Amino acid sequence: MSTLDILSEDEQFIVRTVRDFVDKDVRPVVRELEHTDTYPEALIDRMKELGVFGLAVPQEYGGTPVSTPCYVLITEELARGWMSLAGAMGGHTVVAKLLLHFGTEEQKRRYLPRMATGEVRATMALTEPGGGSDLQAIRTVARKDADGYVVDGAKTWITNSRRSRLIALLCKTDPEASPAHRGISVLLAEHGPGLTVSRDLPKLGYKGVESCELSFEDYRVPADAVLGGVEGKGFAQMMKGLETGRLQVAARALGVGRAALEDSLAYAQERESFGKPIWQHQSIGNHLADMATSLTAARQLTLYAAREADAGRRVDMEAGMAKLFASETAMQIALNAVRIHGAYGYSTEFDVERYFRDAPLMIVGEGTNEIQRNVIAAQLVKRGGLDA
Ligand SMILES: Cc1cc2nc3c(=O)[nH]c(=O)nc-3n(C[C@H](O)[C@H](O)[C@H](O)COP(=O)(O)OP(=O)(O)OC[C@H]3O[C@@H](n4cnc5c(N)ncnc54)[C@H](O)[C@@H]3O)c2cc1C
Repeated sequence: MSTLDILSEDEQFIVRTVRDFVDKDVRPVVRELEHTDTYPEALIDRMKELGVFGLAVPQEYGGTPVSTPCYVLITEELARGWMSLAGAMGGHTVVAKLLLHFGTEEQKRRYLPRMATGEVRATMALTEPGGGSDLQAIRTVARKDADGYVVDGAKTWITNSRRSRLIALLCKTDPEASPAHRGISVLLAEHGPGLTVSRDLPKLGYKGVESCELSFEDYRVPADAVLGGVEGKGFAQMMKGLETGRLQVAARALGVGRAALEDSLAYAQERESFGKPIWQHQSIGNHLADMATSLTAARQLTLYAAREADAGRRVDMEAGMAKLFASETAMQIALNAVRIHGAYGYSTEFDVERYFRDAPLMIVGEGTNEIQRNVIAAQLVKRGGLDA
């Protein structure tokens, strides 16, 4: 049975279309784009044509919505070609879901149709220079006046922020609120006076797409920029959005892990030592077996969380487990791929070193794996165990 068999025929066709795009258009150019750190304009345009930016947008707003398992498998395909491409549509999908679940009708109509085509791309700005894990301690403040809100503060590591026209900005509309999360809101922010993209941050991997510092000084948004129109709901809204975000990061890890396994499997059959292909040396064969086993387990865990999400259940624990396990798995597979490739695993003329640089992002991004363990433990206690 193929993994795709769990999808409808229409959805299988979409995943296969993205797979073809990755094989024909992405893989031949990825090394050049990676090493020159070039924004993949043509590939993003093709992703727009394929409808990738509308996967979470309902048809009535111009999208081509797919099930969450299908979304996971599309993301895996993109990341198999280049993790940066999957990153370019990850935050965008989270913001689309935020609008869908919590936006006012006017906010949905303002953004979703243009987000579905990719004309408007979106990102989310949570992390600040002071920290990304403790989001209740953020310091960016939006003060209300007669014309709307005036925002002051700073965000950092915001992916796609130079090119995104919509930023879901997590900030405090009531800095004195206790508990602090009651004073947090999401503002739908667009580039304008007072918002400066101050710096592109240098990175180990995740090349081609920008991750930037943003500074807000007397930056203004209208009163109707609060997601859902009511202040103080932003923390809970964003936590819900991060369920999708963590599934997306898990799927990115699957893609990186799969690429590393596929390259290793091919190389281990071509490369010979001591008169035989290296896969026939038990140590290398064992590496391949372990890589394939853990990748399959990670994929099933991620698809399980995706199905639970589609069933309308709370999936912070399940998405956390998927993100934790898939990202640690991708890191281990990438490391074993380096071992299997010997010196070529360390060469920038091969793709393996890229997987090894990209994999750690999934351990840190969208909430570190330490934070995922906190979420999982808290949910285990709250729900009374795994199967309660
Ligand atoms: C390439 C890249 C792209 C990113 N894109 C975005 C983006 O688009 N938008 C965005 O908002 N953010 C983005 N981030 C930021 C990312 O989400 C944060 O880096 C992450 O949430 C961790 O925050 P921090 O780096 O401030 O680490 P800190 O919060 O300072 O944590 C430091 C260490 O302490 C540990 N720690 C902290 N608190 C606890 C605790 N309670 N229990 C156990 N351990 C703890 C952490 O796990 C970590 O190991 C991006 C980061 C990178 C590297």
